[in-house]
Amino acid sequence: MDTPKSNKDKIQNKMRISSSILYITLGASSGTLFLWLSSYAFPEGDINIGRSVFGNIPKFIQYSFYLTTIVTILITGYLFSLRSRNWERGLPEKRNKLFGERFIQLFKALNMDTVRRFKSAGLMHSLIYVGFVVLFIGTVTLEIHHLMPPTYKFLQGLTYQIYSAILDAASLMYIFGLTWALYRRIFTSEERIRSKTLNDDFLTLAVLLFIGISGLTTEAARIALINRPSFEVWSFVGYPLSFLIPSNIASQFHQISWVLHVLSFFIFLILLPITKLRHIITSPFNMYLSPQAKHKGAMSDMGNLLEATDIETIGVSNIEDFTWKQLFDLDACTVCGRCTSVCPANATGKMLDPREIVLKIGQVMSESGSPPVSSTVSNSTDLKVSSSSVFELITPEEIWACTSCKACDEICPVNIEILDKILDIRRHLSLMVSDFPSELGKAYVAMENSSNPWGASQDKRLDWTKELDFDVPVLGQPGTETTEYLYWVGCAGAFDDRNIHVTRAVATLLQRANVSYAVLGPKEQCTGDSARRTGNEFVYQQLAIQNIETMNSYKIKKVIAQCPHCFNTIANEYPQLGGDYEVIHHSQLLTELVTSGRIEVGTTENPYSITYHDSCYLGRHNDIYMAPREIVGSIGGIEIREMKRQGTKSFCCGAGGGRMWMEESEGKKINIERVTEAVETGADEVAVACPFCYIMIDDGVKELGKDEHVRVRDVSLILLDNLKKD
Ligand code: SF4
Ligand code: SF4
Repeated sequence: MDTPKSNKDKIQNKMRISSSILYITLGASSGTLFLWLSSYAFPEGDINIGRSVFGNIPKFIQYSFYLTTIVTILITGYLFSLRSRNWERGLPEKRNKLFGERFIQLFKALNMDTVRRFKSAGLMHSLIYVGFVVLFIGTVTLEIHHLMPPTYKFLQGLTYQIYSAILDAASLMYIFGLTWALYRRIFTSEERIRSKTLNDDFLTLAVLLFIGISGLTTEAARIALINRPSFEVWSFVGYPLSFLIPSNIASQFHQISWVLHVLSFFIFLILLPITKLRHIITSPFNMYLSPQAKHKGAMSDMGNLLEATDIETIGVSNIEDFTWKQLFDLDACTVCGRCTSVCPANATGKMLDPREIVLKIGQVMSESGSPPVSSTVSNSTDLKVSSSSVFELITPEEIWACTSCKACDEICPVNIEILDKILDIRRHLSLMVSDFPSELGKAYVAMENSSNPWGASQDKRLDWTKELDFDVPVLGQPGTETTEYLYWVGCAGAFDDRNIHVTRAVATLLQRANVSYAVLGPKEQCTGDSARRTGNEFVYQQLAIQNIETMNSYKIKKVIAQCPHCFNTIANEYPQLGGDYEVIHHSQLLTELVTSGRIEVGTTENPYSITYHDSCYLGRHNDIYMAPREIVGSIGGIEIREMKRQGTKSFCCGAGGGRMWMEESEGKKINIERVTEAVETGADEVAVACPFCYIMIDDGVKELGKDEHVRVRDVSLILLDNLKKD
C-alpha cells in the first residue's frame, strides 16, 4: 500500500529519464558516425539492375549529410530530454510490472488498434503510418545494403525491382494519407478538430508531405539521369514522373531534390519534440505504460490516512503533486478531442472540457518547467502561467462538473488517464482547501453523522423488509453462520422510496431461487463511494474501514451488490484497505440464476419494447454490459431497442462522481439529455441496473412529461414481473 505523499517521496523521486534519453541519443549519433565510417570499408561495385546509393551526390554533400544527421539527432535528443525533465518533477509511481499486458498495449499502439476504432480517422492515420514505416524500413534496408561488401549486396535484380515497387506504393499511401489529413484540417466541420487546428498543424503536415513528395521527385530525377532503363518501370510512380524532367537538367534537379528531401527530414526530427508530432514517440510509450496494478474502476491508493502521521499534502494542486506517469501522459495527447466529444458535462454546456483539462495541465507543466518548453495548445495559451499550480488555468467549477463516468478515459486512443487527474485535484479541493459545492457539505455531514448520505437513521435500514411475506435473514441471527452471500443493499436500496422496491424484488428472487444470503441491516454503512469520488478520503476511509471490520467479523467471502457504485467500491477499492471479497452485481447473479434454471422466466402478456441504460460504474468501470441485457432478453415478448449511445459509449445519467448530491445549475440537465435519447428509441420502458440511474432517469422521464408512456424500472423488477406462472 502506498503511503500518503510526503517530502520524502518527492526527494526520492529522481527518475533521471532525461539522462536515459541523452544516453540513447549519444548511442544513436555514435551509431550514425559508425555507419559513416563503415561506408568507406567496401567499394560500391558494379550493379546491373539496382541503384547507386549516393550516385550523383558530391562527396562534400555526403559528408555534410552524415554530419548534419549526427547534429540533428543530438538536438532532437536534447530537446526531448528537456521535456522529460518535466516528467521527473512528478512523484514516484511503479509501472514496471505486468509485462504481458504492457506488450499487448504496445502491440495495440504499433498496430494502431485504438485509432482504427474510428473508421475514417483510422484509415487516414493508417495510410500515413504504414507509408512512413515502410519508407523508413526501406531507407534502413538501403543503408544496410550500402554497407555490405559487393558480393553480399542484395538490392539488385528482381529484389531491387520489388523493393522499388513497394517503396513507391508506400509513398503513394503516405502522400494520400497526408493530403487527406490536410483536407480534413482545412475543410472539416467537426468542432473538435476545427477548434484545435493551428499553424503548427499545417507546418508539420506540410513538412511531412514535402518529405514524401521530394522522395518521389528525387527518384524520378535519378531515373531520368540514368536514361530511364527498362528495369526501373517497377518504380511505377518515379518512372513515369521521370519523363517530366528534361535530361539536360536531371543532374542538378536530382541534387537539389535530394538535398531538400534530406533537409525536410532533419526539420521533421527537430519538430518532433517541440510540436504535437511528439505523440509519434510518446503515445506508444504511454500505452505501454498504461497497465496498472489497481483495477481500472479504483481510484489511486492513498494508504490509511487515519493512521498516517506525516501527511504534508493531499491530492493535487501543483504539477509536482502528480506522479511522473500522470505528467508523461500529458505529452502523449494527440489533441484529438475525442474525450470531449463523449463528455456528458461538456455535451450539456458545463465548463468542463476533458481535453482542455489535459492541455491546461500540460501548459502549466511546460511553462513552469526549468527551462520552459513548448506548450500544448489549450484555450488558455494567452494566459501567463506564473507558478506550477494547476489552478493557474483550471477552475474548481470545471473539476466539480465531472460525473466520473470514465467515457473520456475509455475513448482516448492513447490511454491518457484523465479521470484520475480530475479526482486527484478534487482530493486537494475537498480536503486541503474545503472548496466544494455547499450541497456536498450536507452529504459529508450526513455520511459522518448518520453513516449514509441520505441522513436517514441507521435503525431504518431494515424498513424495506416490512412488506415482504417472508423473513429476510440478518447476519448475526441464529442460522446465518454458514450463509454464502452477504446481500449488500446499499443506502439507496434501504432509504430511497423507488429503490426500496428494487431491494424487495431482489430479495424475493433470491428467496425464490433458494440462494443462501443475509443482510447486515443497521450494521451496513455507506460504502463511501460518493465521499471518495468527491475527494473526501477521510470520510471514505472512516466508512470503508468500519464496513470491512464488520464484514470480516462475519467472515464474509461473497457479496451481492445491488448498486454498481457499492459493487465497484467493495470489489475494487476495499482491497486497498484490507477487505478482499468476491463481489457480484445483482444483475449478474440473476442472469446466472435464470441461465441455470433456478429462476424460470415466462412471457409477457402484452409484447412491448425496452431500452437499457448502461450504468457507468457497471459498464465502463467494470466491463459488465451483457448481464442486465440478458435478464431482459430472457423474457418472451420483450423487444430490446438500443439507444444511439450504448455499451462503452453510453451516456451518463448525471449522478456519478458524487454529482448525485450536487445541484446542476449550469447548462442542460444530463439526465434530460439521456432520457431524450431513450425516448427517441420509441421504447415503452427504460431498464436500469443502478439505483442512481433509476432516480435520475425516472426523474428525467417525469420532467419531460413522458411518464404516462414510458416506464422506468430496475431489471430485477422487470424480471420479477415476468416469472413463469406456476
Ligand atoms: S469522467 Fe465523464 S464527466 Fe468526467 S471528464 Fe471524463 S467524460 Fe467528462
Ligand atoms: S486526452 Fe486522449 S482523447 Fe483527449 S484529446 Fe488527448 S489524445 Fe484525444
